Amino acid sequence: MRQSGAIIGKTLPFANIAFDGENFNADKDGNFVLGFDRDAGATANLTITAPDGRKLERTFDVARRSYRVTNVNGVPAATVNPPQSMRARIAAESARKQTAWSSLDENSRGFAQNFRWPLNVVRVTSSWGAVRRINGTLTRPHYGVDLGARTGTPVYAPASGKIVIAERNFFYEGGLVGIDHGQGLITLVMHLSRVNVVAGRTVEQGEKIGEVGATGRSTGPHLHWGMRWRGRQLDPSLMVRPLAKIE
Ligand SMILES: [Zn+2]
Repeated sequence: MRQSGAIIGKTLPFANIAFDGENFNADKDGNFVLGFDRDAGATANLTITAPDGRKLERTFDVARRSYRVTNVNGVPAATVNPPQSMRARIAAESARKQTAWSSLDENSRGFAQNFRWPLNVVRVTSSWGAVRRINGTLTRPHYGVDLGARTGTPVYAPASGKIVIAERNFFYEGGLVGIDHGQGLITLVMHLSRVNVVAGRTVEQGEKIGEVGATGRSTGPHLHWGMRWRGRQLDPSLMVRPLAKIE
């Protein structure tokens, strides 16, 4: 267990899970996912209540991570401080994203897979969780892993799931695709030059979903890869390895 990471749990089918203020049920096979915030505390409490009322309580130690501070210059001022004329568009796009990020698809099972990187060649240009100083102003943490690649490089689904958003030209994200992998786990890629999927369809792990680009608020071609779990932002690169499992 570490800050910004996720773990897979296995318990009785449909058992109730109480964790970090969230309350939800394991799936029909007893699987569930827990996610730890970027700045999660040193310990986290989990309470599992079986359908017959029995309770199991566990406390996890959560390992700390350190996050980089990076300077980003050359971002056009118009996107740092969006003009008044853009506000309605940005608000509408924000509402669309909130709907997508609240998806809880019960048929998606990708969360249980070992994730793959969304690109075949991986070159990390900005790490997850870094605090950015854009044009001299400190902003919120960078909730994504930036991967350097040329425009047109194929982007693949890191795990199977259901497409919850597929947009070609959002103000901040440009080309944006989000995938619900089940149990509240959603990954997203942005700044795409091409989008090859539509919302509502399912994708298999490794299926092409788009191409790298520099659309939206981007200083050059790269892929921004993010992950969400029940409203929290997690580091998707931590999924590309066997996960800690609890039973
Ligand atoms: Zn990024």
